Amino acid sequence: MSSQSPSPATQFISHAPGHWPDVSPEQWNDWKWQLKNRVNSLKRLEDLLEVTPEEHAGALLAGSKLSLSITPHFFNLIEPDDAGGPIRRQVVPRVEEGHTAPWEMADPCGEDSHMPVPGLVHRYPDRVLFLVTDRCASYCRYCTRSRVVSGAGEQELHTNFEEAFAYLEKHTEIRDVLFSGGDALLFSDDKLEYLLQRVRAISHIEFVRIGSRVPIFLPQRITPEFCRMLQKYHPLWMSVHVNHPRELTTEVRDALNRLADHGVPLGNQSVLLAGVNDSVEVMRELVHKLLLCRVRPYYLYQCDLIQGSSHLRASVAKGIEIIEGLRGHTSGYAVPQYVIDAPGGGGKVPVNPGYVLFHDDEKVVVRNYEGKIFEYPEVAIPFTNHHKTELCPG
Ligand SMILES: *Cc1c(COP(=O)(O)O)cnc(C)c1O
Repeated sequence: MSSQSPSPATQFISHAPGHWPDVSPEQWNDWKWQLKNRVNSLKRLEDLLEVTPEEHAGALLAGSKLSLSITPHFFNLIEPDDAGGPIRRQVVPRVEEGHTAPWEMADPCGEDSHMPVPGLVHRYPDRVLFLVTDRCASYCRYCTRSRVVSGAGEQELHTNFEEAFAYLEKHTEIRDVLFSGGDALLFSDDKLEYLLQRVRAISHIEFVRIGSRVPIFLPQRITPEFCRMLQKYHPLWMSVHVNHPRELTTEVRDALNRLADHGVPLGNQSVLLAGVNDSVEVMRELVHKLLLCRVRPYYLYQCDLIQGSSHLRASVAKGIEIIEGLRGHTSGYAVPQYVIDAPGGGGKVPVNPGYVLFHDDEKVVVRNYEGKIFEYPEVAIPFTNHHKTELCPG
């Protein structure tokens, strides 16, 4: 049993150089080259792929909403013969993006109304989201912040860094700063280091984390020098964003390992997407492969109600089914928390399969992953005032 080779599902494959056979390894491994050579026009897309009419129309729409932009590294993962493939659906625009369902919004999580300073979202008591840039290495078609990222839409992000630092200094209740955007890892090492220094200089900030899809879109960015720089600002955590096991290539695995080797604890935030990862099988493969890369699945997000995302939205029932298919069946470390980011701005709300069947003062009745039912006595609290009053009136 133990001598079996790993199943193809958990194998790491490099797709380089793929569509770029003439590029030298030095160029290919240079993150600046990757950025300069992104596929960012309909013409480039058509040079490299057989574009469907739905994608053609989508690419035309993208120019005024959310830019088309795909790094060569990530572009090579696209399934050439499968217009509905899980990588393609994430980054190639489709005509359905032009359709807004009645419940869809430009700012689905009500971030703009929770910004005390431009670029700083302060929703929870002790932590803030710091939007440091409006640019990403590639653009996810379901981006919750598509109103401000990529430079294509009408709204712009004008982060006021000095005002943001002043706010962080003044608000001593903030102990956790989350760098996001856009993607902070598009900054030079020096610029990102400057921001980390400024935040680390504030004594009440204990915990710093970066949310980034760069290790996945642009693994070349995760250089040894970059990792050595990050290491100076611990405790520094990172949340990456992987939706499908195919995204975990050898280059991505090596980049994640470099980060982990430099002491950066890694979590993953997936978005549940129709046709991408809305099945127990795909998600099981993904979470197992993440553990091999030393990444702990952190959140599985129900797709935010962003305008033009209906074609990518899976049901909440499907999300619950996926969690039910993982919990108990596999390592607890592999099971993310499924959440809905409450429309309008209530924050992340956990959504779980119903394992508690009954609960009163005397007992709790629970169901395990196999559907077996168990009873646990509720703990009586005899010495509280409440009980005293009940037991000994007068
Ligand atoms: C997601 C989010 C955070 C971080 O939430 P955690 O549950 O601590 O990971 C903080 N602020 C905002 C506005 C967020 O959307």
